[in-house]
Amino acid sequence: MNTEALVKKLETEIQNFQSDVDVTEYGIVQSIGDGIARVSGLRECKASEMIEFENGTVGVALNLEEDTVGIIVLGDYLSIKEGDKAKRTGKILSIPVGDAIMGRVVNPLAQPLDGKGDISNTQQQLIERVAPGVMTREPVSIPMQTGIKVIDALVPIGRGQRELIIGDRQTGKTALAIDTIINQKGQNMKCVYVAIGQKKSKVMRLVQKLEEAGAMDYTTVVLAGASDPSSLQYIAPYAGVAIAEYFLDKGEDVLVVYDDLTKHAAAYREISLLLRRPPGREAYPGDVFYLHSRLLERACRLNDDNGGGSITALPVIETQGGDVSAYIPTNVISITDGQIFLEAGLFNKGIRPAINVGLSVSRVGGAAQTKAMKKTAGPMKLALAQYRELESFAQFGSDLDPQTKKTLDHGAKSVELLKQKQYSPITMPKQVASIYALNNGLLEDIDMADIQKWEEGFYSFLEASKASLLEGIQKGWSDDVQKELKEAISEYNQLFNG
Ligand code: ATP
Ligand code: MG
Repeated sequence: MNTEALVKKLETEIQNFQSDVDVTEYGIVQSIGDGIARVSGLRECKASEMIEFENGTVGVALNLEEDTVGIIVLGDYLSIKEGDKAKRTGKILSIPVGDAIMGRVVNPLAQPLDGKGDISNTQQQLIERVAPGVMTREPVSIPMQTGIKVIDALVPIGRGQRELIIGDRQTGKTALAIDTIINQKGQNMKCVYVAIGQKKSKVMRLVQKLEEAGAMDYTTVVLAGASDPSSLQYIAPYAGVAIAEYFLDKGEDVLVVYDDLTKHAAAYREISLLLRRPPGREAYPGDVFYLHSRLLERACRLNDDNGGGSITALPVIETQGGDVSAYIPTNVISITDGQIFLEAGLFNKGIRPAINVGLSVSRVGGAAQTKAMKKTAGPMKLALAQYRELESFAQFGSDLDPQTKKTLDHGAKSVELLKQKQYSPITMPKQVASIYALNNGLLEDIDMADIQKWEEGFYSFLEASKASLLEGIQKGWSDDVQKELKEAISEYNQLFNG
């Protein structure tokens, strides 16, 4: 063979060369502690890439530094030792999601915690995804009925909206979220409840309540408990929204509850400090705003060209002593489209749900209210505002002029009518019917103490003998419907008084 032929042969050999050599990159654990591993030797490692340790545990690369990579370990880090091998997987952090995840309780890696076996037919869903752009979105226009009178009437929420639930500890924040999930039955809605940093036993009790109400059929619970490592708590809400996005991609409407983001921020602060990122205000790292904004931005209502689905987000924030001006509360208030403000004072007075109507707002939900509710709830807002202003005079009792007395009485009855028990959502037509009675002075002859009894009886009465009227309210708000409703109320009042 001459030289030329030899060169030619070598060249083709080189061109056709196919490597079957394992080029997986391995690194060596340099240090491990508090759920953070520092690994050297992972030269090509990408941000948010999944890294597998020798014992099978996975971690996520969060800090890419000159000599080492800072990795948060998602799971058992106690059995990882210095000098262990760590393998790059080449995959950005993702979880397996499929239709069968509904009705399940899973951890933030979508591994079942309920002992009901594996979740079948899954596809990988990225935990971090860029939120849909403006051109793919549509304004909020369809209501997300919570079944809670005071919310549906005064701070209505639309599908695709982000509405914050904020209040001190033990003021009924979780209760609002759970009742909302229960009310989604038969409304073509999927729900994801993300529990962050809560006691596991408490969450399991909630799951049981959901099961009893038949709400687990369309709900997934993502649980990162108080005893789980902060790395898992940190990725939990992103896992929750990734599950929601799986259904969004199929054009469905999804509701996601993040309970709560205060604990989420604390978990992220812990991770950041352990990764030696510089602390800022209240020792949170500088990007703590981005932590929540990139999460909540993924709530959306898509236009029909993009499937028409929606993700409604209900983040929860716990305040200390009602202080909404602390760092994390102000951040999340500014990211969301409104807030439902719960007050310990009201809660202790027995006004439950303890919603401060004056401080609660919904910036876009009004567009999604049904016509019947919008027309009926309008006067109520005004009555409550007047009542708040005059409330302090109520102690003067008999010295008041009749008009003031009437306003006070009407306001007090409004507050009474807006009280609602837990786990008992009320449909929109029934809400409209009772608020209509209040607005039109048809409750003036009912004693304050009897309001709740009146209300309960009224709903049963409507259900038993006025089904077509309820349907009529659902469809629209014509004069005929209003007339029929007025007559129905008078008929019931006679029964009630007689
Ligand atoms: P935490 O800060 O511990 O998370 P939270 O603000 O989520 O508390 P919940 O756990 O929802 O509050 O409620 C606190 C207590 O108030 C519970 O015992 C619950 O049963 C009760 N509660 C909540 N809402 C109502 C209601 N509408 N009527 C009566 N009791 C209620
Ligand atoms: Mg709670």
